[in-house]
Amino acid sequence: MLEGLAAEQGHALGAVLVDVPFDILQKRVTGRRNCPVCGEIYNVYFKPPQSDEVCDLHPDARLGHRPDDNAETIKARLATYERDTRPLLDYYERTGRLRRVPGDRDAEAIYADIEKAVRLER
Ligand SMILES: [Zn+2]
Repeated sequence: MLEGLAAEQGHALGAVLVDVPFDILQKRVTGRRNCPVCGEIYNVYFKPPQSDEVCDLHPDARLGHRPDDNAETIKARLATYERDTRPLLDYYERTGRLRRVPGDRDAEAIYADIEKAVRLER
């Protein structure tokens, strides 16, 4: 149905997959910490605070950890992804309209590649 609507308006649909290896996904989620005062987000693996579990700007603020940022939640989220999202990606791949962007890099590089991928879809 979505394909039909897009075609009626002269648009073609495609998909962009930001591809991140599982071990990095796991570290991004389980390593995430945030400051309860300013909201700054840290990651114990990729962007650690200067002192363990304490905000760089608020030395009295102990960093928080969302209770659902754990290995079990990641597994559940990935199971949902495999069930609900993977078939759609397979569809776009079969029809030659899936663009893959390596996601294990810094945000600016990923963003630049997503912009390029989206432009290719037009
Ligand atoms: Zn802070």
